[in-house]
Amino acid sequence: THTVHIIGGGLAGSEAAWQLANRGVRVRLSEMRGAGLPDGGGRSPAHQGDGLAELVCSNSFRSDDDTANAVGLLHYEMRACNSLMMRAAHEAQVPAGSALAVDRDVFSAHVERALSEHPNVEVVRERIDTLPALGLTIVATGPLTAAGLAASIGAATGADSLAFFDAIAPIVYRDSIDMDICWIQSRWDKKTEASNEDGDYINCPMTRDQYLAFREGLLDGEKTEFKQWEADTPYFEGCMPVEVMAARGEDTLRFGPMKPVGLDNPRDATPEFPQGRWPYAVVQLRQDNKLGTLWNMVGFQTKLKHAAQVALFRTIPGLANAEFARLGGLHRNTFLNSPILLDRQLRLKTAPHVRFAGQITGCEGYVESSAVGMLAGMMTAAELAGEHWESPPRTTAMGALLSHITGDAEASSYQPMNVNFGLFPMPDDKVRKKDRKRAYTDRAKRDLSAWLGNMQVSEPA
Ligand code: FAD
Repeated sequence: THTVHIIGGGLAGSEAAWQLANRGVRVRLSEMRGAGLPDGGGRSPAHQGDGLAELVCSNSFRSDDDTANAVGLLHYEMRACNSLMMRAAHEAQVPAGSALAVDRDVFSAHVERALSEHPNVEVVRERIDTLPALGLTIVATGPLTAAGLAASIGAATGADSLAFFDAIAPIVYRDSIDMDICWIQSRWDKKTEASNEDGDYINCPMTRDQYLAFREGLLDGEKTEFKQWEADTPYFEGCMPVEVMAARGEDTLRFGPMKPVGLDNPRDATPEFPQGRWPYAVVQLRQDNKLGTLWNMVGFQTKLKHAAQVALFRTIPGLANAEFARLGGLHRNTFLNSPILLDRQLRLKTAPHVRFAGQITGCEGYVESSAVGMLAGMMTAAELAGEHWESPPRTTAMGALLSHITGDAEASSYQPMNVNFGLFPMPDDKVRKKDRKRAYTDRAKRDLSAWLGNMQVSEPA
């Protein structure tokens, strides 16, 4: 019988192994930690131990509210699919209000036991340095994929398609932007084939005083420090934080991402300039998903702490009430340009025996990584059984996340993403804003149950 090779026994790889094993598929799960390798035992700089599914930082799976929160909804959906990570989280749960938080050692031990005792799983402590040329494979080596394998993946995908740092600009929900202050226009009204009629950017205008105050805010705001091992990695010069640019000079931003040239603010129109005038500086937002619900602040990757970002970015004209789907950041993070490289079933288009799962696909977070691992396991099982695979509807959290990764995200600005309602199609009816989250989650649960009805979800072994 066929053995599926899973590389990486983190959250995604462990979940994929469980899903496959419970469908009767034999799995070899290769995990480098615990292999007794010389360089730090083969551990990434963030991992501390050798257990499967180690949580490297926070012990929280975030909100467990499946009526008002996209990640809580994802918990619900994963439970319905017999997720091992959700079972382990239940076993290891510690009090945390409406959040799902766990004892990380109990969590990892549960996963380790479930897989090592499973008759279909062989856990092998070894590091894999090249992408296997043959055999169904799931690569789930995470944000800190070991260098040798990363090089092999880079060779298979093209170096430009594998990033080693994320450079996350904040993402704003479109419906929280004040369009009485902002306007839509591309610089010099330039267009490409993909362009929208009116222009591709939402522009937030700034006066000189507003610009200077904003720059001060960037310089003074509280920042997160790079960890030593991140600072030691040479890649980050390519994606400079906006506050570092601000520190280079008073006008550096005005000649960089906040450049106003070629942008006529129609609200400053005069008889002499009927088109409007260029503001002193602008913040530009660009569409981030095909649905047009999410817009990213172009060039605003930052190490500012999240609270400082919210406070400062809401001083930008037009963003006073901005709601953020994601805040900015910059970290060591190995991830693929999945919307280009992967097909809708997470397979490498150029080598379809290889699937990717977890954070390396460009999802972000423990829960999202586990969910993508779960889907990769289910897809591989279906492929082996010769069954037709129907992906979960995009109205579900799993489906929305999967669609984003495998084609709906904007490939040119692709950066790691948490699950959020901006990835879902808007609810059909004219739902009032305060009822919207409920509308998303009710619809998702309905559609999930129809999807599961068409699918055989295996009982635990
Ligand atoms: P991992 O859980 O990292 O698993 C990958 C596994 O592959 C590891 O066990 C690794 O040892 C193994 N591996 C790597 N290369 C090889 C190889 N060549 N051969 C064999 N095995 C290999 N998310 C949150 O939700 N909350 C947080 O607080 C949080 N904090 C984070 C802090 C840091 C420093 C980092 C780097 C990430 C953080 N994340 C956080 C993101 C989190 O790591 C991921 O969401 C999640 O762990 C990714 O799951 P994964 O299975 O894709 O990767």
